Amino acid sequence: MALEFIAPTKRRGMTKARAARIFLDANGICCNCATQIRQGEKWFVEHVESLAQGGADDDKNARPAHTRCKAAKDATDAASKAKRDRLVTAGWDRGDKPKMQGAGFRKAAKQKRASTPVKPKYEGDRFGVRSGFGSIVFIDEDSTL
Ligand SMILES: [Zn+2]
Repeated sequence: MALEFIAPTKRRGMTKARAARIFLDANGICCNCATQIRQGEKWFVEHVESLAQGGADDDKNARPAHTRCKAAKDATDAASKAKRDRLVTAGWDRGDKPKMQGAGFRKAAKQKRASTPVKPKYEGDRFGVRSGFGSIVFIDEDSTL
């Protein structure tokens, strides 16, 4: 498989006359399930090589297909396009764009024993409670401050 950029093909207009010509050229055989499209069955013009993958929007690439057969073909086309995109971008080096990273947490010294008092993590930290954040303080009214 050659890897190259494939631009999606611009879709031409579909006229009743063109659809009829495509239908008759294929003898009304669905290109997906290879059975006759019967009168009253819903059908549409399918592109054998999908337009998304650069298939031509000409009558040679167009076949009639049951509408009920569309989902399977679409899934195959999508898988094939995804595979191509994966192959193309597999070795893509995004460059040395740094990944977003937070500042992280400030490390405190590991507490070895429960009896060892907790050391403040940083200046202003009183036993894990940061001052200035509105901690509750009980004031003894009899004491003189
Ligand atoms: Zn079919």
